[in-house]
Amino acid sequence: MLVDGFGRVATDLRVSLTDRCNLRCSYCMPPEGLEWLPKPELLTDDEVVRLVRVGVERLGITEVRYTGGEPLLRRGLVDIVARTTTLRPRPQVSLTTNAIGLARLAGPLREAGLDRVNVSLDTLDRDTFARLSHRDRLPDVLAGLAAAQRAGLRPVKVNTVLMRDVNDHEAAPLLRFCLEQGYELRFIEQMPLDAQHGWRRDDMVTADEILDRLTTEFSLVPDDAAARGSAPAETFLIDGGPARVGVIGSVTRPFCGACDRVRLTADGQIRNCLFAREESDLRAALRSGASDDDLAERWTAAVAAKRAGHGIDDVGFLQPARPMSAIGG
Ligand code: SAM
Repeated sequence: MLVDGFGRVATDLRVSLTDRCNLRCSYCMPPEGLEWLPKPELLTDDEVVRLVRVGVERLGITEVRYTGGEPLLRRGLVDIVARTTTLRPRPQVSLTTNAIGLARLAGPLREAGLDRVNVSLDTLDRDTFARLSHRDRLPDVLAGLAAAQRAGLRPVKVNTVLMRDVNDHEAAPLLRFCLEQGYELRFIEQMPLDAQHGWRRDDMVTADEILDRLTTEFSLVPDDAAARGSAPAETFLIDGGPARVGVIGSVTRPFCGACDRVRLTADGQIRNCLFAREESDLRAALRSGASDDDLAERWTAAVAAKRAGHGIDDVGFLQPARPMSAIGG
């Protein structure tokens, strides 16, 4: 098992398949993009599957989430998913995506065994989408979402980051849209993980503000706290239920004490926290002939060193060197 010094057990593996993205959301990446990881540094499909297999077979990983960058840009994605679903014990396999291209890939991914998707959608307004992401792709995202629902990649979850004076007036309309379509919406507080280092705490739309905006139109009753487990979202029953909305207060309501996540970057580094400042290089070990036992041992040591919390609110907080797109969100 992957246990840290505070007794937390990591069972949820987030795997970044690429640091590239076809959007440029301002809370994540500058408009001109970033210097991408050189191809030889990226794990090959076989290397990804081998490390995931070690995690599942030897280290107690029960959930695998493919992410990025934009994972739909990874050519081998469908095959990687198919091979992941043959592992035993069979992990839950999901994808975090901006849904551009999902209209075409939802069916093949479902056939490959993908269980469900989280789709990022910050606005329903085409101009706002283009301004926020520097790409005019809202229709593609909506088509991808609908295709995921049709293909049975359920529950289809939607992730939204609200930014002040950009899309923060859309909290209630986004929730209404998701209720109509049968998607589960989660709002995420903006975190200091943008490559431009433009995050300001005072500017962030907080969980409290998000809830205030929603309760002007909906009645929200907190879900049973015990049922939350390690889930990052606090969930609320909407207008008596059964539909729910989630709020992930990563900054103002941190949930590090219940964290069960560990991350593998596209270049084969284990990160024990989104905000970790150290990484553990499994790619070098793997390419110099490490056995599965060696890899498992290195991975175990990396998780054992996990800090108690991300420390965003500490005076000495330092943003990690890698931005969100290169870590895997
Ligand atoms: N490209 C995929 C997508 O759009 O979902 C996967 C990667 S993206 C980095 C994963 C999630 O991280 C998205 O929901 C995105 O909104 C979120 N994200 C990116 N930067 C963030 C930040 N600074 N604070 C909070 N969430 C962020």
